Amino acid sequence: MTLDLTDKTVLVTGGTRGIGRAIVEAASGAGARVAFTYRSSSETANALAEQLGGAERALAIQADAGDPEQAAGAVQSVVDAWGQIDGLVVNAGITRDGLMIRMTPEDWEAVISTNLTGAFHVCKAAYRPMMKQRAGSIVTISSVVGVTGNAGQANYAASKAGLIGFTKSLARELGGRGVRANVVAPGYIKTDMTADLGENVTGHMKEQIPLKRLGQPEDIAAAVLFLLSDASTYVTGHTLHVDGGMAM
Ligand code: NDP
Repeated sequence: MTLDLTDKTVLVTGGTRGIGRAIVEAASGAGARVAFTYRSSSETANALAEQLGGAERALAIQADAGDPEQAAGAVQSVVDAWGQIDGLVVNAGITRDGLMIRMTPEDWEAVISTNLTGAFHVCKAAYRPMMKQRAGSIVTISSVVGVTGNAGQANYAASKAGLIGFTKSLARELGGRGVRANVVAPGYIKTDMTADLGENVTGHMKEQIPLKRLGQPEDIAAAVLFLLSDASTYVTGHTLHVDGGMAM
């Protein structure tokens, strides 16, 4: 079975770079009309929308994940443009790493606000249209550290662990309406977010990963595509680890 998203519309938060961009490109390649949000990279966003076929096929929407009105506006733009929202990928995320002893309340707030409260805002906005359609697939992007914890990432790990409980709750609330909600928990993936880790650190990490390599954004996009597609219509409330075996 191929993963076909023809006739579906998908909204991806944080779609201009890294994992989000790979998801946008994969969903578009599978036939979906794809909207994506970004925070600041307007030029990249507009170029990507053009590359995917312009307004008929792709929408670039500037919307800060932590702002409830902008998140709701993004969902509304998809419904206005294409009449429906079939898939929602909650991907936008940030880090503000530091050991607890040095972590400021601002570091904590910024990460929880974007990664976890941002998920609440955009899912709340998509809730009603998806319930009305009696169909939809929500995929949240957590992290291996949401499951294992990580020194220096208390804020980030808390936000990513929170996403798992949040998504399972949505799966329970929305299942009767034909709407599914699942989590993808990536391991270490080569993106801007991990670009600052030196060779020493990544070399050591590879040793800890059963598959002995860091992941690529496309590894995550493939798992998300499965969860958005009709190949997974009996899968909900699941956390799919795409981490080379790190968290088993
Ligand atoms: P990147 O930093 O490479 O890209 C982040 C994307 O999110 C960009 O498109 C950025 O837009 C957007 N973004 C950031 N903040 C906001 C915001 N407040 N509102 C809207 N958009 C925003 O991240 P990755 O691709 O590495 O990570 C994507 C997701 O995957 C995150 O949730 C991350 O936590 C998770 N993840 C990543 C892992 C990794 O190893 N890379 C591992 C596990 C999970 P702009 O360009 O405009 O800033």
